[in-house]
Amino acid sequence: MPRRTEPRTGATVGAALLAVQINGSKNRRPRSQPSHPGFTGYTRQGNSLAYAPHTCGIFSFHPDVIVTTEDSRTASAPHLVVLGGGLAGLTAAEAALNRVPGVRITIVEPTGRPGGVLETVRDGGWLVERSADSFLGARPEGVALVERLGLTSELIGIEPRVRRALVWHAGRTVPAPDGFRLLAPGLLTGILSTPLLSPAGRLRVLVERFVPPRRPPAEDATADESLESFAVRRLGREAFERLVQPLASGIWTADPARLSMAAACPEFLEMERSDGSLWAGEHRRLRAKAHAVAAGARYGQFLSLARGMESLPARLAEHLRDRGATFVQARASGIVPGPTGGWEIPLAAGATGLARLAADAVVVAVPAPAAAGLFAGLDGALAADLAAIEYAGSAIVSLGFARDDVAHPLDAAGLVVPRVAGRRALAVSFSSSKFLGRAPAGCVLMRVFLGGALDPEALDRDDDALVALAYEEAAILVGARGRPRLVQVARWAGAMPQYHVGHLVRMQRIELALAAHPGLALAGNAYTGVGIPQVIASGQTAAARCFGVA
Ligand SMILES: Cc1cc2nc3c(=O)[nH]c(=O)nc-3n(C[C@H](O)[C@H](O)[C@H](O)COP(=O)(O)OP(=O)(O)OC[C@H]3O[C@@H](n4cnc5c(N)ncnc54)[C@H](O)[C@@H]3O)c2cc1C
Repeated sequence: MPRRTEPRTGATVGAALLAVQINGSKNRRPRSQPSHPGFTGYTRQGNSLAYAPHTCGIFSFHPDVIVTTEDSRTASAPHLVVLGGGLAGLTAAEAALNRVPGVRITIVEPTGRPGGVLETVRDGGWLVERSADSFLGARPEGVALVERLGLTSELIGIEPRVRRALVWHAGRTVPAPDGFRLLAPGLLTGILSTPLLSPAGRLRVLVERFVPPRRPPAEDATADESLESFAVRRLGREAFERLVQPLASGIWTADPARLSMAAACPEFLEMERSDGSLWAGEHRRLRAKAHAVAAGARYGQFLSLARGMESLPARLAEHLRDRGATFVQARASGIVPGPTGGWEIPLAAGATGLARLAADAVVVAVPAPAAAGLFAGLDGALAADLAAIEYAGSAIVSLGFARDDVAHPLDAAGLVVPRVAGRRALAVSFSSSKFLGRAPAGCVLMRVFLGGALDPEALDRDDDALVALAYEEAAILVGARGRPRLVQVARWAGAMPQYHVGHLVRMQRIELALAAHPGLALAGNAYTGVGIPQVIASGQTAAARCFGVA
């Protein structure tokens, strides 16, 4: 087996493997600590990539600008402290700078590397995304941020010839039915001709249009339902097991019996409620989309950046620094009321030696379990609700091969594997087919997703065993053989928030509790959506909330 080294861990989602929209979803992550306190880079060790620490210029200590006392809180120049330097925290900082005159910003991040889970490894001709590899262009927030940061020329779309997903079925890869989108059947011909479903299974999907909408009792405005219950009710068990479950797993790594329709898939729920069926709702959507395309809508699919997704937070952090934001490498350990108003943030030992920060407003943009810890001394009920948001973990094993060493044509964005197929891989993303510039000439790069909510034991394996498992899966699923030219493991223990049934009710309680703490706001992927555009929106909303600006 190939040897690999990879000391660091992180969070993972199989999101955006396919061209389906991420609406939102979360679960608790007892996030593992980074191995290196500073900004980390990679060095080559044989055919593996290994981390080696190096310094990040963004996170430097400037004693003249760090704000440590309440005297620094002034009405004319409010001080916003952002906890967490992931995409949510960085976009909250940008939004505050754009909307609050004179605001001073301090961003607290223990790793010393901006971007949170977003990490790109470049080595020779390989470009490996350790977590997200793309974002949805149909929502405005991602593209707008790229444009504001001057990265438009780096935007790349999924290669047109591979804009489809494959499903593992009966020992081979089969294209998902034409037009099928997570839950929405789309095209009659696609359903009629798919070998993924039996004749009875196809018929069951066809009659979805006659299945009456579920009408929750009027008094239960918060009635929720799991993805599995919804899909089986509307499309039948076979379509759920062979299509919906694997496609959803490629996005949320979730247990579909617990994933909340209302929180994770509101669009499809709304189709049932407003249009009467998924068939009708999807036809309405397709008509609207055709209209938007005719009207000149520019980006309707998944996009990435030529130099990798990490360029987005890296450029944003530079932009914030250039506009005067201060980056502090430390871990926040609580939030306490300031002696004369505002808030104080005690800092655990960090590179700066700072003990605490005084703030007029605080955006808490850390994972929900960490947020629960920060709120524990201030508001026990709020902390309990944050702690109750569960997370799932997964691992991505990236494997690079000589093109001739993979039998499959890799003529899709990737493949998903139904749980009923009894395999360990959740999905395989064909990275070098999706985007240009991901593998050297004559080579291909794929990412094998393992673990998820339904197979947490996968992460108990050590790296060598994970690689061996991924290699075995790649051999069976796409006919990979021979020695990989590149091997890399990204572990994401408890990194993917899971929006379980009842998530929206919990969010209502969280919102209510936060209202009692003026100047405090939450941002990040644990609340209103896991996809990159939603996370950006969460940061912007949090900044607005802190300062009461619309
Ligand atoms: C493996 C994987 C694949 C994904 N794929 C896609 C995709 O293809 N497309 C897509 O749209 N989305 C994808 N996502 C989702 C998306 O990338 C994330 O939802 C988003 O980047 C999360 O940003 P965040 O700022 O909320 O959280 P994070 O990136 O987790 O940032 C939180 C930050 O808080 C810091 N922190 C923690 N504790 C403290 C503390 N006490 N004090 C200060 N700071 C603290 C952490 O160090 C971290 O930097 C993926 C996610 C994962 C994990």
